[in-house]
Amino acid sequence: MIETFTYEALPIRVRFGRGAIAEAGVEVGKLGATRALVLTTPQQAAEGEKLGVELGAAYAGLFAGATMHTPVGVTEAALEALKASGADCVVALGGGSTTGLGKALALRTGISQVVIPTTYAGSEMTPILGETRDGQKTTIRSLDVLPETVIYDVNLTLSLPPGLTATSGVNAIAHAVEALYARDRNPVISLMAEDGIRTLSGALPILIHEPANLEARTQALYGAWLCGCCLGAVGMALHHKLCHTLGGTFDLPHAETHTIVLPHAVAYNAPAAPEAMAAITRALGAPDAAQGLFDLVRALGVPRALSQIGMPEEGIERAADIAVQNPYWNPRPVTRDGIRDLIANAYAGERPGAARSAEEAA
Ligand code: NAD
Repeated sequence: MIETFTYEALPIRVRFGRGAIAEAGVEVGKLGATRALVLTTPQQAAEGEKLGVELGAAYAGLFAGATMHTPVGVTEAALEALKASGADCVVALGGGSTTGLGKALALRTGISQVVIPTTYAGSEMTPILGETRDGQKTTIRSLDVLPETVIYDVNLTLSLPPGLTATSGVNAIAHAVEALYARDRNPVISLMAEDGIRTLSGALPILIHEPANLEARTQALYGAWLCGCCLGAVGMALHHKLCHTLGGTFDLPHAETHTIVLPHAVAYNAPAAPEAMAAITRALGAPDAAQGLFDLVRALGVPRALSQIGMPEEGIERAADIAVQNPYWNPRPVTRDGIRDLIANAYAGERPGAARSAEEAA
């Protein structure tokens, strides 16, 4: 049912397609810029150099030091490189870590950003920046960090390994899931959310077996864009807060943590968000939202238990304490006992709820 709502569009120019990276130089020019510093992780430095060749005279150099969680020390080194290069624009080529570095530079200098995402994380569509200083992660929301232009090139996702394809894709699905029950949800974003879940959940199982399937890659990247729009437009709840706590406290990998926790967070919120659950089940083509997500993660063959990705068992109680320290809005009240059980289930990788299949019980 449509109720009163507010919808605010974010001013981002998007180009989507196979081979769209060839337009990077044109897009730099459209921003009124003439020299671009290319940003990558160390692992993607070669792709950054290749882009530099394509940019020609507009290439001001490469900073290949982006790392997970945007440590302030790395941003300071990148600021020096930016000054030395004389660039008037940055082009971030990579996943959420590289996008985060571009945003951190924009926050400090006001420089324009072209982002070329190569994972499904969705950071490029959000005015959100998480930064780490002395091991503490803080998050800000500001239009100052919103990229001006995003180029989605399906070809760049062909090299995503199956594991990262799966976890990054479920990370994207998590944005859409929480958008469907967000306090500030609206019908436009809910349309994008449902279609984002549908396209990604359809494409990911294909990509695990056929990573170079162009049609599935196109669907997945399109779905990731929709899910990124959801994250940028409305507030997130239990799932994102909990992943933030778990990732920060135990230094767990970002996309894997999201993938493991999502079915459990959805099971927790299900009784309080029936319309969202109906949309998720429609999108997944499954009879139940939490079970459908758990089955998707299972089919993708990636870790289903926090114990598998480095969380210590004694961390369950500590994480439950931290998770209820700073109250936030969630469709279902967040209780310590409830969250403790949720984390314990996710730690063990058990199916949410009691309905375990005979095959799993065996
Ligand atoms: P990532 O950017 O850390 O990338 C993981 C690894 O995969 C890196 O080594 C990277 O170089 C490599 N990689 C990326 N694309 C590849 C490709 N196509 N082929 C081969 N290798 C590739 O991972 P991520 O999950 O995209 O991003 C996680 C980070 O993004 C976290 O720090 C998270 O907090 C942040 N994030 C922020 C937001 C936001 O809105 N601010 C949203 C989502 C994620």
